[in-house]
Amino acid sequence: MKKLALHWQILIGMVAGIIFALILNNFEWGSQFVTDWIKPFGTIFINALKLIAVPLILASLIKGISDLKDISSLSKMGFRTILTYIITTIIAVSIGLTIVNVFKPGKTIDESRRTELTENYGGDVEITRQSAAKQKESGPLQALEDLVPDNIFGAASSNGNMLQVIFFAIFFGIGMILIPEKQAQPVKDFFDALNEVILKMIDLIMLAAPYGVFALLAALVVEAPSADLFMALLYYAACVVLGLVLMIAFYTLIVWIFTKKSPIFFLQGISPAQLLGLSTSSSAATLPVTMERTEEHLGVDRQVSSFVLPIGATINMDGTSLYQAVAAVFIAQAFGMDLSFGVQLGIIATATLASIGSAAVPGAGMVMLVIVLGQAGIPEAGLALIFAVDRPLDMMRTTVNVTGDAAVSMLVAKSQGKLHDPPKVKNWDDEYKKRNPKAN
Ligand code: ASP
Repeated sequence: MKKLALHWQILIGMVAGIIFALILNNFEWGSQFVTDWIKPFGTIFINALKLIAVPLILASLIKGISDLKDISSLSKMGFRTILTYIITTIIAVSIGLTIVNVFKPGKTIDESRRTELTENYGGDVEITRQSAAKQKESGPLQALEDLVPDNIFGAASSNGNMLQVIFFAIFFGIGMILIPEKQAQPVKDFFDALNEVILKMIDLIMLAAPYGVFALLAALVVEAPSADLFMALLYYAACVVLGLVLMIAFYTLIVWIFTKKSPIFFLQGISPAQLLGLSTSSSAATLPVTMERTEEHLGVDRQVSSFVLPIGATINMDGTSLYQAVAAVFIAQAFGMDLSFGVQLGIIATATLASIGSAAVPGAGMVMLVIVLGQAGIPEAGLALIFAVDRPLDMMRTTVNVTGDAAVSMLVAKSQGKLHDPPKVKNWDDEYKKRNPKAN
């Protein structure tokens, strides 16, 4: 029998997880059962993905850069990548600001609703505020200082230090370009082979993806707050979702214009990574799959994807920046504040920087939102207003973050003459068989 394509398998896993949890929620023991017996499998799945993120970045980036042959192609690609990332982020924030100013969702929250929401989530806000305070205390050059690790094993030991690992890999790759080719060859061969092994590990992990997302979604459903609070925030959430949908449309459009690849080609190629972003709420956990999809299904040369995507997963978060803009103005509206044009321009700058600084893990965008609020003089207590719907919005903004990285990788590849026709892969099953000839 012909197996379903991977994105369908994942989608079915997600829907089945939701239905399963909704049914079990009707039993007294249901939610505890999901927490004890189903959720751990979701956690194991995410851990397995995160497990390979650091070695993948190291191996693929070092290999990609050492393949470049000279430093000038590296700086050209680096410049294009960063510039495109910043432009797309600014566009995202601007879309968010336009929507929230046009629809004014904050005006629908009256005094009593505000008190109810604030009381429900007051404690959670304190924790978020404290983690943000640590970030705020640092000096203006702290981000630059943090870029350079003092110990590579220390940096690689924490998934929160991706930028340091990227720095090391680029530095190492540059060193390899600068020594005679013959001497660099064994190191290159090593990272080449390491890369292959890790790609194979991703294949194996992805076999479990439908079950992993089943467990993740089931756990989310049983832990979700009451539907009543959800409804109060529906208008705000709808504004964020509208912005995110527009961003996806924007990506497909620029991919179409600049690379002549159709929206269907792009969305079909990247959909498993999108669905995984949706289920895991983590760009970092999704990175291995984003890389594989862009290389094998969208035709981005590995030299480009291995450079553009790890950096993108860490600093390019268009969905997050859009959400931060909408959330900040929504909170201001709910507190009856009118934000001047100047303050809103400030939000463009801070949301862009805050999204760059957000870690690629669940909930990070909300922590950095505190900084946007502080800069614009909006009460931090307002975070409590949006807590109830943050998780579903986190899932969706992560999907956009992942899509944005993939789109930019295609643009950069095109500009470098490194966008190819991908091998015709009909579905994951074929692909798996091709890679595992002995499995049949
Ligand atoms: N979860 C998002 C990501 O990993 C970041 C955020 O919280 O917005 O891309």
